Amino acid sequence: MYIKEIEFLNFKSFGKKVKIPFFDDFTTISGPNGSGKSNIIDGILFALGLSNSRTMRAEKLTDLIYNPDSSNKPQYAQVKIRFDNSDNEMPVEADEVEITRKIKETGSGYYSYFYFNGKSVSLKDIHNYLAKAKVTPEGYNVVMQGDVTQIITMTPVERRKIIDEIAGVSEFDNKKERAMNE
Ligand code: ATP
Ligand code: MG
Repeated sequence: MYIKEIEFLNFKSFGKKVKIPFFDDFTTISGPNGSGKSNIIDGILFALGLSNSRTMRAEKLTDLIYNPDSSNKPQYAQVKIRFDNSDNEMPVEADEVEITRKIKETGSGYYSYFYFNGKSVSLKDIHNYLAKAKVTPEGYNVVMQGDVTQIITMTPVERRKIIDEIAGVSEFDNKKERAMNE
């Protein structure tokens, strides 16, 4: 499974509909400072519900809506991630999977919606689908700026925990501990 395309609509600096294609092996994004490279990564974290607003570099979720200083601010932002699922890593009968998140600003707050192949679902559903493809909020699928430094300054025991998590050993350790306690 891999990301084929990301589609932005009113998300952060993407004021109109912008589609960004990705390759199946390796994609790099380059551009001048402030051109929106990191905003693309923020879009992935947003659409897949992998992070809170802080790690997407916003005070609150509604700050993620495109906010031009000149004209009117739109009332919503949307990010759609199109995956190639021809290896069926996500257990659905579809070669292509689309995960979409939309936030709508209201007078008093905001609403957040998730869609899986066009069907309205909960964040928990999204996490369950992604977990089958080994994508989790606690996982290291997205390595943020500063994460590497953090890993270097960890104690050996903390670092070992991360390696166990990535290797999938922790799951069995947890199961073993539960069984021992029974
Ligand atoms: P660098 O090379 O410095 O890391 P970058 O390409 O990663 O830069 P980003 O941090 O992705 O750049 O983009 C920053 C830009 O996004 C800023 O110009 C900022 O004004 C703009 N931006 C962030 N949030 C919004 C928003 N809600 N509406 C409009 N523009 C926004
Ligand atoms: Mg950046």
